[in-house]
Amino acid sequence: MKLVIHIDDSAQWQAALEKAFPQATVLTSNAPEDERKNADYLAVWKAPEHLLQEQSQLKGIINLGAGVDYLLKTPGLPSDVPIVKLRDAGMGELMADYVLYGVLHFYRSMDRYATQQQSATWQPQAVPDKTQWPVGILGLGAIGSYVATHLSQAGFPVLGWSRSAKQISGVRCLHGDEGLDELLGQAQSLVTILPDTPATEGILNAEQLAKLPEGASVINPGRGSLIDEQALLDALGEANKPGHLRGALLDVFCEEPLPTNHPLWQHPNVVVTPHMAAPTPLNDAIDQVIAYIKAFEAGETLATISPASGY
Ligand code: NDP
Repeated sequence: MKLVIHIDDSAQWQAALEKAFPQATVLTSNAPEDERKNADYLAVWKAPEHLLQEQSQLKGIINLGAGVDYLLKTPGLPSDVPIVKLRDAGMGELMADYVLYGVLHFYRSMDRYATQQQSATWQPQAVPDKTQWPVGILGLGAIGSYVATHLSQAGFPVLGWSRSAKQISGVRCLHGDEGLDELLGQAQSLVTILPDTPATEGILNAEQLAKLPEGASVINPGRGSLIDEQALLDALGEANKPGHLRGALLDVFCEEPLPTNHPLWQHPNVVVTPHMAAPTPLNDAIDQVIAYIKAFEAGETLATISPASGY
């Protein structure tokens, strides 16, 4: 059985897969065309078009990340091959750390201390009661639900929102337009961990951002497409004319890398990170790739992604 992989550090993945899964012939996308053609499975992150187009007998595609937006937009993606994606695979813990950092950044006034330091100002800020600092999480999937539970265990009231109704211990789970309104109306920190789909594009526009409480902060490690960036800038205001929102921690952007002249780089109340919130951990991911292939081979029913829904 032939597996072809494509990811930044393919050689490392190939070596780990060969060791853990000796039954498979593991090639990277750099192999000669006649060798990499006729693969049974592709395990890919940002696959080139030709790798998808040259295959004729694929039994499955494994997306080596949680977001399938890039894969679904790649020309040549066969419509009749089942696609699975990594589910959590160690990313939940990394994402939970990132989000907790972001919530604490604002909750413990690290943004204000950074400003004060510029003028050597020694001024402790009040620490609000945690119970008065609701965290709203858009997206309660494999990663979002892990993050929601983690934040709840850290002592914050957590509201979560998803497409379907859910039950997660310690989390007020909401759905639908009314649920979104309730969450936005309360969230002191709003966290977006939704996938990039036709239904989520621009979901945080000026109208929705205006529903957040005065002084709320936004943490976006989901996808750049979720937020209207100009609306966010407007809501943040300027140093001498603060807006409705207090600040933002942003990991993902409409255009990546974020262009050097983009105003988000310069905004004093924005922290920019370069799409690093939850990189795919190799070992957990490899275990999941092998489990997926074994399940495909055994004819099991797998939780495949829905191209129509986009996630
Ligand atoms: P999942 O596919 O497991 O979950 C997606 C969640 O979003 C589900 O709860 C789903 O609802 C909800 N959702 C989807 N569409 C809508 C909608 N229209 N309205 C309301 N809710 C919706 O994804 P993961 O949790 O694994 O990952 C989420 C995203 O995080 C990824 O798609 C990716 O974009 C991003 N990510 C970013 C990383 C980074 O380093 N910055 C790393 C990893 C992921 P339901 O449960 O009802 O289906």
